[in-house]
Amino acid sequence: MKIGVLAVQGAFIEHKKMIEGLGEECIEIRQANDLTGIDGIILPGGESTVQGKLLRKLNMFEPLKAMINHGLPVLATCAGLILLAKEIENDTTSHLGTLPVTVKRNAYGRQLGSFESYSNVGTIKDFPFIFIRAPYITSLSDDVKILSTVDNNIVGVSYKNQIGLSFHPELSSDNRIHKLFIDKIYSYKSAGSQLKIS
Ligand code: GLN
Repeated sequence: MKIGVLAVQGAFIEHKKMIEGLGEECIEIRQANDLTGIDGIILPGGESTVQGKLLRKLNMFEPLKAMINHGLPVLATCAGLILLAKEIENDTTSHLGTLPVTVKRNAYGRQLGSFESYSNVGTIKDFPFIFIRAPYITSLSDDVKILSTVDNNIVGVSYKNQIGLSFHPELSSDNRIHKLFIDKIYSYKSAGSQLKIS
């Protein structure tokens, strides 16, 4: 299996190390051709405005959006979640827009934007949450499943083939979320149909 990690900007190396540590191949996606043949993609943290611009400039925007809409499994963290969101608060534009949620960028403020906490991610208990100038989700459509809340804010969701997280599992030493993502890709491949991540 070949998992791609978007590598135009941001914290992609840590995701790659986690996937490789779990024994799977992980390739860096830097141009549209790199998307060919991947079984899943990780959208890392970083700066969503920069990543969105680069996706468009490098002609990856439309193919990636189409692949996700056709069921490509995606794990998005922090800026990656913002790229997926259908709407961004106080912003007239959005990016890929494949995940029917509204996100608030830098929702915890810019100065006090980094903190750690423990909570659940779906069936994964006591996961270490690392937030860095994180967004959270302020509204979501009925068919989006909430995976995590911290202080009553929604910080993790799943929807069909997409997992969106406000925090950075790749910066912890806990690989359970990456393992879950890999398992889901395998079940998607064997089912050969639209993946539901729950
Ligand atoms: N604040 C960043 C943004 O709005 C996200 C921060 C992160 O990915 N750690 O894109």
